[in-house]
Amino acid sequence: MHIDLSGKTALVTGSTAGIGHAIAKGLAATGANVVVNGRSQGKVDQAIAAVKKAAKGGTITGVAADVSTAEGCASLVQVQPDVDILINNTGIFEPKGFFDIPDEDWQRFFDVNVMSGVRLSRAYMPAMLKRNWGRIVFIASESALMIPKEMIHYGMTKTAQLSVSRGLAELTRGTAVTVNAVMPGPTMSEGVQTFVADLARQNGQSEEEAAANFVKQHRPGSLIQRFATVEEIANMVVYVSSKEAAVTNGAALRAEGGLVQTIA
Ligand code: NAD
Repeated sequence: MHIDLSGKTALVTGSTAGIGHAIAKGLAATGANVVVNGRSQGKVDQAIAAVKKAAKGGTITGVAADVSTAEGCASLVQVQPDVDILINNTGIFEPKGFFDIPDEDWQRFFDVNVMSGVRLSRAYMPAMLKRNWGRIVFIASESALMIPKEMIHYGMTKTAQLSVSRGLAELTRGTAVTVNAVMPGPTMSEGVQTFVADLARQNGQSEEEAAANFVKQHRPGSLIQRFATVEEIANMVVYVSSKEAAVTNGAALRAEGGLVQTIA
């Protein structure tokens, strides 16, 4: 299978680092025009330069905007009024016991992880339906199904994304637009590297030991028994964004190393 998205424009939110950055590179390698996004212009410029190296003829641009706010989303849409492929990737996570999570954290997690995708889908999906082609992908998490007791607020946002994603797919009936969610498992993104480095420092371990222990202790059901690479997650997202994935719609696709112990 050769995935060719030349002529299509893809926006990847939160793509200056981590999984989003790998997705931006993966889409650029299919010939797509890619729009990267992050909050600071400096990081966006660096990301554009890096993604350009992977590009196969498409244009690579970027918009600095905070997609956790209505104003940020509006300013992004103003600069980039139309896209064929929307990857709702931006997301934050932080382990915190339920009894220590204040209201503000619940609201912030909801704004960053859920409302960003809601607002951008509302802005971009009508033109996709009108053109009769489009792809929306929500980067959820296995935490949508296996709610982590150390960050219930995060799990809540990831389950909410599955709900929004499936609901939007219902609006595509009879069109060539698809809306899906991808559920990564533990993935060695920049955000997670920081988290693992902190764990290593706290426990007097090397980062490799801390990562291996994390999987054993907190994700014992993982069949791969390791963190995924950001590229391994991006591969699934590029596929589901492709023309070849035309009959995958309304799905929550697992890329979690088998840690969700169900058959379907
Ligand atoms: P990361 O922290 O490494 O990168 C997140 C990116 O989003 C960064 O570029 C950051 O600058 C950007 N960002 C953060 N807030 C933003 C905002 N308000 N506006 C615009 N950009 C913003 O994160 P990651 O680990 O790559 O996670 C990406 C997505 O994958 C998230 O939705 C996360 O929940 C999901 N996920 C990650 C893992 C994992 O283990 N890494 C597992 C499952 C799901």
